[in-house]
Amino acid sequence: MDLENLLEFDLDGLTAYCEQRGEKRFRAVQLFRWIHQKGARDFDQMSDLAKSLRDKLREVAAVRDLPVISEQASSDGTIKWLFDVGGGDAIESVFIPEDDRGTLCVSSQAGCAVGCRFCSTGHQGFSRNLTTSEIIAQLWFAEHHLRQRLKLPPGQRAITNVVMMGMGEPLQNYAALVPALRVMLSDHAYGLSRRRVTVSTSGMVPMMDRLRDDCPVALAVSLHAPNDLLRDDLVPLNKKYPISELMAACNRYLEKAPRDFVTFEYCMLEGVNDTVAHAQQLVALVRNRVPCKFNLIPFNPFPQSGLRCSPRPAVQAFANVLQEAGIVTTIRKTRGDDIDAACGQLAGEVQDRTSVKQRILVRAPITISPVGSSAGGCEPPHLTKDLPT
Ligand code: SF4
Repeated sequence: MDLENLLEFDLDGLTAYCEQRGEKRFRAVQLFRWIHQKGARDFDQMSDLAKSLRDKLREVAAVRDLPVISEQASSDGTIKWLFDVGGGDAIESVFIPEDDRGTLCVSSQAGCAVGCRFCSTGHQGFSRNLTTSEIIAQLWFAEHHLRQRLKLPPGQRAITNVVMMGMGEPLQNYAALVPALRVMLSDHAYGLSRRRVTVSTSGMVPMMDRLRDDCPVALAVSLHAPNDLLRDDLVPLNKKYPISELMAACNRYLEKAPRDFVTFEYCMLEGVNDTVAHAQQLVALVRNRVPCKFNLIPFNPFPQSGLRCSPRPAVQAFANVLQEAGIVTTIRKTRGDDIDAACGQLAGEVQDRTSVKQRILVRAPITISPVGSSAGGCEPPHLTKDLPT
């Protein structure tokens, strides 16, 4: 019999699981705390559970995390882990330490179907959705591994923020994502506030509306173009949910969001989306329409992308236009540059989904869109992001 992986459950799910076995809710709470707050996987460690329950659990359940394929530690403290999720698939998670916080960038899918031009993961194609346990196992491992490694005193957390900006489009894996978010937010588990958990989307408009109602955490939207013509090319999902619909969804989301702004991610691509005219078009798109901040992200080149990072003066000139219009704009520091390049590259070395690669390679060469058409946004090479506070 396959053992049930208890990392799969949020607290309600674990309560139902325990109740089916004749146990009361408070037992589920105890179990949940042992697993997530203390990092226990051995039921014998769980000393306040009745021995009869521990014996029962050992027969039917387990706390199963993900095998680590590799770890890379950067001189700036960034750590990237490559996890084996079976079937030849691998996913990445990245820990990004800063003075006042520790952020974990978490993957939601093995590969990604959105196929953004500038994204190494998108170039690999889509393999499958991760389960809730595979999403939460990234946090479980990082939190408890880092507590030991950093010799943190009891009660101090290693991970203070989570960003769903790793591999995959989180809102295309909604059913597994929401229970994982609930585990992150639970006071009996990681206890993160809604402001410290960010879901980043390439613009899945209907799912943004659902997330607003089901579990409104902070929202980041990948907006890498100021018009539909260009965004259709950079973020193919835009053909389905164009910029006007995306902006309307952002405003609906903000009605319940824990922050009063959306973070727009904008990957700076030389000669593609980085001119002053593009910046002016962005201003016209969002000013007095969508409360927002911008993160400008230096593109992290990878083989076959055919794209280059904008020169620093172009990035600064772009930022100036936004800032002078009163829009809070940051230029993202890249992190972990010495351990590898763009998000998805480690995993891409494990598996190259050639059919998708072929599909991407046959796309027309990228064109510089005329400034002046409509407007636009998606998820960037996530893993080198710096992050909403
Ligand atoms: S940027 Fe995000 S949504 Fe786009 S292909 Fe990469 S992982 Fe998918």
